Amino acid sequence: MSFAQLNLAPEIERAVEEEGYETPTPIQEGAIPGVLAGRDLIGCAQTGTGKTAAFTLPILHRLRAGTRGRLRALILTPTRELALQVAESLRVYGRHLRLDAAVVHGGVGLEPQQARLRRGVDLLVATPGRLLDLMGRGCVDFRSLEVLVLDEADRMLDMGFIKDVRRIVAATPSRRQTLLFSATMPDEIRRLAREILRDPVNVEVAPRRSAPAAGVRQTLFPVASGRKRDLLAHLLETEARGLTLVFTRTKHGANRLARDLEGRGHSVAVLHGNRSQSQRTHALASFRGGRTRVMVATDIAGRGIDVDGISHVVNFDLPNVPEDYVHRIGRTARAGATGDAISLVSPEDHPHVRGIETLIGHTIERRVMQGFAAGPGMAGPSASSPTVARARAAGGPRPVARVAARFRGHGAPRRGWAVRRRA
Ligand code: AMP
Repeated sequence: MSFAQLNLAPEIERAVEEEGYETPTPIQEGAIPGVLAGRDLIGCAQTGTGKTAAFTLPILHRLRAGTRGRLRALILTPTRELALQVAESLRVYGRHLRLDAAVVHGGVGLEPQQARLRRGVDLLVATPGRLLDLMGRGCVDFRSLEVLVLDEADRMLDMGFIKDVRRIVAATPSRRQTLLFSATMPDEIRRLAREILRDPVNVEVAPRRSAPAAGVRQTLFPVASGRKRDLLAHLLETEARGLTLVFTRTKHGANRLARDLEGRGHSVAVLHGNRSQSQRTHALASFRGGRTRVMVATDIAGRGIDVDGISHVVNFDLPNVPEDYVHRIGRTARAGATGDAISLVSPEDHPHVRGIETLIGHTIERRVMQGFAAGPGMAGPSASSPTVARARAAGGPRPVARVAARFRGHGAPRRGWAVRRRA
């Protein structure tokens, strides 16, 4: 299918062309016709599939005509980074239209946002907490609202926003068009979807079981927890030499790791919830521009990172929630490219490894980096294992012993996107 076949307004088609997109991605192909026809939609799509354009393009198409300066489309996102990214997509795809989009999120002053809403906007991208604050101050008028989007609904659930989301939905007109996107479909999201969507088109570009984006090579490195920093530094010098995004579980962990890497001569950007908005913006800009090759982030902040060309994602700590693993590694290999996802795994991480492998449906390849030998009971061959011994016998000291991935029951990981559309 080509973009021309989607029958989007010429101004939108032109913007898409200027972005260099040649064909719609499967989620776009599956979602755009239904949304243009005014249908509600459930989009089950992971990050990196082009889901943002799947809803922003038809919304811009719908809003291009009609009275301006009245709030007609609202997009709710779990994090400010994602909100900013969606707003940027609206700006890019809507650059030949005369529509005003605003973004409101926490962490910055309320007054400028209040003033912005008073001036009138056509589209609003918002995080739930800040939107409720602004609604409480009487600055949001939903009377003209036509389209509501819940983006990354599963993430809003994880972050405890689902009650806020329900309050916001209840304040919008019932005749609206509603689009719900989620990488995974936990029961509570299904329930929400049943309650707020009317006869939705269902588009799925990931299996129901969460799956990492195609093109991501996944590897686990067993390592003692006290050696993780050394191993990371070694990997940054030997293998992970492109733009590398490193995830830690906590904000303090991110700060400590960044200091350690800086002490080893790396320039490092840091992104987490305790940083001010301007620090976050600065960190992202310098990473995106390649001025800092390494960025350390926590999950919440890392969620909205849309940076092309991330070659490596490193899980310094594994996430507590298996789904976050899929979201994290989706930061590389975006839009059909390839990338590496490396996880540093100490014995304490084993329960997390099991959770992740169950979720993705296969085991992840283990590699042992010589000199960072796994201790007893580690996930991977010990230094005296036959695999490593054979590698040594074959060619003297080798930095890496490769252990073939074992696939359990479900077959090989999926390659390419599958799309299923149920009207
Ligand atoms: P998303 O899943 O919305 O975060 O999008 C992931 C990336 O895919 C973004 O960098 C988009 O610019 C890019 N993208 C979206 N649609 C297309 C397309 N049809 N062709 C190529 N790249 C695309």
